Amino acid sequence: MVRLDDILDKVSAYNPSADLEIIRRAYVFSAKVHEGQTRRSGEPYLSHPMEVAEILTHFKMDAPVIATGFLHDTVEDTHATIKEIKDLFGEEVSTLVDGLTKLARINFDRREDREAENFRKMILAMAKDIRVIVIKLADRLHNMRTLDAMPVEKRGSIARETLDIYAPLANRLGIGWLKTELEDLSLKYIDPEKYAWLGGLLEEKKADKEQYIKKVKDTIKGKLEEYGVEGEVSGRLKNIHSIYAKMKERDLEFDDINDILAFRIIVEDLNQCYLAMGMVHSIWKPVPGRFKDYIAIPKPNFYQAIHTTVVGPYGERMEVQIKTRDMHMVAEYGIAAHWKYKEGKPVVDKKRDSSFAWIRQLLEWQRDLKDSDEFLDTLKVDFFPEEVFLFTPEGDMKVLPVGATPVDFAYSIHTDIGHRCIGVKVNGKRGWLGERLHNGDVVEVLTDEGHAPSRDWLKFVVTSRAKARIRQWIKGEERTESLKLGRNICEEGFMRYAVDFEATLKSGEIERVAIEDFSLEGVDSLFTQIGYGKISPLGFLKKLYPKRDFDAKETKKPSRFGKVFGKFKKKSSARSATAGTGIIVRGVEERMVRFAKCCGPLPGDKIVGLITPGEGLIIHLKQCKKLFDVNRERLVDIQWEKDIITSRPVNLEVTSKDEKGVLAAMCNVIKEADANIISLKIDSAIGNKAVCRFVVEVMNITHLKKITESLESIKDVLKVKRVADSVEVVGKEKP
Ligand code: MN
Repeated sequence: MVRLDDILDKVSAYNPSADLEIIRRAYVFSAKVHEGQTRRSGEPYLSHPMEVAEILTHFKMDAPVIATGFLHDTVEDTHATIKEIKDLFGEEVSTLVDGLTKLARINFDRREDREAENFRKMILAMAKDIRVIVIKLADRLHNMRTLDAMPVEKRGSIARETLDIYAPLANRLGIGWLKTELEDLSLKYIDPEKYAWLGGLLEEKKADKEQYIKKVKDTIKGKLEEYGVEGEVSGRLKNIHSIYAKMKERDLEFDDINDILAFRIIVEDLNQCYLAMGMVHSIWKPVPGRFKDYIAIPKPNFYQAIHTTVVGPYGERMEVQIKTRDMHMVAEYGIAAHWKYKEGKPVVDKKRDSSFAWIRQLLEWQRDLKDSDEFLDTLKVDFFPEEVFLFTPEGDMKVLPVGATPVDFAYSIHTDIGHRCIGVKVNGKRGWLGERLHNGDVVEVLTDEGHAPSRDWLKFVVTSRAKARIRQWIKGEERTESLKLGRNICEEGFMRYAVDFEATLKSGEIERVAIEDFSLEGVDSLFTQIGYGKISPLGFLKKLYPKRDFDAKETKKPSRFGKVFGKFKKKSSARSATAGTGIIVRGVEERMVRFAKCCGPLPGDKIVGLITPGEGLIIHLKQCKKLFDVNRERLVDIQWEKDIITSRPVNLEVTSKDEKGVLAAMCNVIKEADANIISLKIDSAIGNKAVCRFVVEVMNITHLKKITESLESIKDVLKVKRVADSVEVVGKEKP
């Protein structure tokens, strides 16, 4: 088992002014809270955090990270709390431990292959600090190294997860040796027989190839010296997993894989890389199509090198990789390759700033690094600022844009789930349908049969899918309402011109004209179009009876309104009072009835409905200025429900002398009249006059009259006027 002193020595070697004290305290705390716990191998549990801390020294991590190595399992596996960690070790360490605790709580078991990329993204997104991932990888490496202690049936899934999730993460962070070791260890447990077999073959080859490797190395070295290039040459057999993957991918036998040998030339600068390549190609013939210049075009993880495959001394293929020392460091150590320490904190070696570009890219980070605090800030990043990773209660992952709400989530599962959602549980707790979801949230959508989407949802949903589905639903709903409204208006129009609607409908004439003259599908689409206000009943009648002179009859229209309406009233069964609005319109539901903002009608006022495309029926005062220019075909006669009890806001403008107490008197009078003041604004005070604007809730015009008269009776009040442009839409939508 590794000793604390070994770790401290290693840290001080690369970071002489490191805060060793925090590491010591973390060790003591970890030993205390893990006391009595053992690993499956029977060793004291403490051995695990110690090994993890030791692995982290290989990445030249800063003191808080090494301390976190000791503490990484304390919150998850002991009685220690995150608050305790924060009190004892400060904000930085507690944030790191918290990140690891959150990652530990996510279960990746039994994931499909296709989901692996999403999981890798989610880990990056949840970590919020690159150092959390580095610690997580060190943790996983030690667990993999000791996987033998786990029950056989658990080894496979842990190894699979390592291969699918963690090895690619190590690769993405550019930590070459870690990726290789995780891959080989995974294969050992996923396919033990193949692993042992390939391992054996490679061992044999190694013994076989020792002379060969020496010969190639010497040849290259000789050539380098000849040209005065200083460089290191090493030869090795490729790792087991990479050979296994190649055999699988290309469906090859072991003996057919002829480039299992890899040589590496490390030189000082970039020009020497190309020079060395030229030398190698002058000794051995390059294999066409196997030359890759990752210096000019780095890999996505910013790996840089020249790879070439040549035909070796005995006609055998061998791969040669050529890179600079910098490139090699980046390839092996990734993030930590160029950390330097100043006053115990990591900073980036300025001279090597260019080779550090890969991480800058990775982080979409464009600032210059000025000091160590800023550098630490750059490690805390939003890897995927645009995506949030969520789960269904069954464990299926959904990736949605940041800001997504439970409604977006519901629609991402199924349109019907979206339409019918009435509530949500986020991580087991009841939540609001419009709240923002966070990475890792488990979202359970509660639905109710027969529940319908709300227009309000459009205010908070962020996915285009949810938006489109909600709009589609509303549109469909409006179409239904427009159909009802249109049929009603059509019938009324027919009656106005003394045409028997029912008989004409039965005769099929309406349908014929709708199809032939209006290119519509049938009567329903005709009514819908009339409901939207796109076709007028008169326009239709003129097509239906081209020879009749409808315009001559128009003079009779005003007197017909009443009659028509009278008839409506008798057919009370066909009439629906629109609950809440106090308006009677046959066959029209509340959804389609709204009050005009311009004139704000009150019960008792003479009113008229204006068919407004896409909005339904807007109720105006009969004398409203807005109706002056409107085609009368769009007007529908309506009336208030009898004895309705409602309250509607109305705007009152009161001009008074600017005297003390007058405002109080006004408010008092309104209160006495049992009316509610919604708002009050002193509009202007000119000279000794004041103009107050009240928004008052009143029941009807009688009520309003009473209030107006009471206000006028106040001594200093000069004028009371009901004014327009104050009333909001009242026709409520169904939730
Ligand atoms: Mn652990």
